[in-house]
Amino acid sequence: MHQYKLPELPYGTDALEPHYNAEPLELHHQKHHAAYVKGLNQALADLQEARDKDLFRFIRQLEKDLAFNLCGHRLHSLLWNSLSPNGGGTPPESVADRLDQEFGSVDAFRKHFNAAAMGIQGSGWVSLSREPNSGILLIEQIYDHQNNLGAGNEPLLVLDMWEHAFYLQYRNEKLKWVNAFWDVVNWQHLEQAIGSEPMRHSEAA
Ligand code: MN
Repeated sequence: MHQYKLPELPYGTDALEPHYNAEPLELHHQKHHAAYVKGLNQALADLQEARDKDLFRFIRQLEKDLAFNLCGHRLHSLLWNSLSPNGGGTPPESVADRLDQEFGSVDAFRKHFNAAAMGIQGSGWVSLSREPNSGILLIEQIYDHQNNLGAGNEPLLVLDMWEHAFYLQYRNEKLKWVNAFWDVVNWQHLEQAIGSEPMRHSEAA
């Protein structure tokens, strides 16, 4: 059976300071993200056991554990790539042009993204996602790790709005966390993601 592994951070734990300090970043990666990887492997093992025993009484719980931990793992993996010690500032021209086209302007995109981040009730994420059939970009609020995300939509740039992401450094001041994100946002990774081909399930846009 496939075993998922915790990916290494693409930079040192202190590389994003002072925007994201080593202690909260290390805890986030080594404890929180690691727990989703562990939970994902456990969910897969539990589902294997259910098939082996032909015992599906707990199927709803197992499928929820699978979705929660798989999406938690994938979103955190993308989060580390959404941040960079060389990030922040203005986006490269190709990204700026695309954001202008999709959202009216980079500023309008940023305001929309910030509002979606600040408007999360409880635990969740804000994601710049691509709807693969049309290829358009959308800003989505994701609840927990797996809810409210359009089926098949592909997150390209994400910000974690769970309290565990920011509370140790920014306490209740969520807006400071959102602003810190823009100071280290990895525009180069977004540029690559936008340049990749979306996986279309049909020709229907
Ligand atoms: Mn997190």
